[in-house]
Amino acid sequence: MSVFADLVGQDEAVETLSRAAASAARVVQGDTTSGGAMTHAWIFTGPPGSGRSVAARAFAAALQCQRDGIGCGECHGCRTALGGTHADIRFVAPEGLSISVNEMRALVLRAASAPSGGRWQAVVIEDADRLTEAAGNALLKAIEEPPPRTVFLLCTPSTHPDDISVTIRSRCRVVPLRQPPAEAVAESLVRRDGIAPDVATWAAAAAQGHVGQARLLAKDSDARTRRDAVLAVPRRLTGVGACFDAAAALIAAAEAEAGTAAAENDGSERAALEQALGAGGTGRGATGAMRGAAGQIKELEKRQKSRLTRGQRDALDRALVDLAGFYRDVLITTWRAPVGVVHTDTAAQSAAAAQKWSPESTLRRLEAVLACRVAIEQNVKPKIAVEAMMLNLWRG
Ligand SMILES: [Zn+2]
Repeated sequence: MSVFADLVGQDEAVETLSRAAASAARVVQGDTTSGGAMTHAWIFTGPPGSGRSVAARAFAAALQCQRDGIGCGECHGCRTALGGTHADIRFVAPEGLSISVNEMRALVLRAASAPSGGRWQAVVIEDADRLTEAAGNALLKAIEEPPPRTVFLLCTPSTHPDDISVTIRSRCRVVPLRQPPAEAVAESLVRRDGIAPDVATWAAAAAQGHVGQARLLAKDSDARTRRDAVLAVPRRLTGVGACFDAAAALIAAAEAEAGTAAAENDGSERAALEQALGAGGTGRGATGAMRGAAGQIKELEKRQKSRLTRGQRDALDRALVDLAGFYRDVLITTWRAPVGVVHTDTAAQSAAAAQKWSPESTLRRLEAVLACRVAIEQNVKPKIAVEAMMLNLWRG
């Protein structure tokens, strides 16, 4: 299966990338005249779940494909690239809330070496919008004078200057990904994951074009329970006390979700580090080594803590997107808009709310959810932002 098979509903992007990979393969073969479709720096943009990092990974794989860069998905180059073990592909994802200058410098340095497989070195920067300014500058230098066979693949939500600096943007080719239509997401869940068609259709609509989220909803009953709890919020808001309770419950759920995911990772990471450091050694020099080891363990704990914070924010944000979907459903029902509801399983509740609320008050509620997302993004304490939102949702 082609390396691009997981890019759901992105025909235009796939065509651009296929052409570039074919051209890149000709460059590898020594054809210097056909580099037109290929370039050294790319930005993948699109809403969360549209497949930015999937696209970057697929393109990196196609560059390593030994069958003329078609991204066959079967040769050694394709398979190791997709499996994340190809020696010439580096991934950088922020450990905490941002990508530090040290991480970036180390990466740029390694990217300057010649590809070991003789094809291309690819550097995939997921969440490039989380680059610190200094890290962005280090990256810019590398993009301005790229080593001949090195490709930088950046993923950001958009090309807005808040997400990526104007100078980096001006050096890159942009591949915009769109929010995949629900039908395409459902089709992929059936074909690729073997999910029953009715479940796939429901999950694709409920996930609002987020492919990973749709797959999770279709497969994981915990994810469905969490979503049900979020969608119960609107009918639970019966007074001020209930608002504060709902806020506390929403935040606790996001913390629990992120905590479960982190606990597994953290334990195995720490065990691996301790083993690498030879914890428990008693020989000569062990004391000095342990002192250095304590520093490394502390560093790891710090990274894990900031990763947990980010996981909590991401989980909370997904809950807010679900909630916004409910108020959107109310609004389109009020207006009899010719589009489908996002949450088919709460259609009765959104229809009832459409009878009861004026369009203006529904719109104020929707805006309250979106304002809460923005506030959290801007580092307002989640508790404060969510409590304010709940009060606005209750008052309308
Ligand atoms: Zn291949």
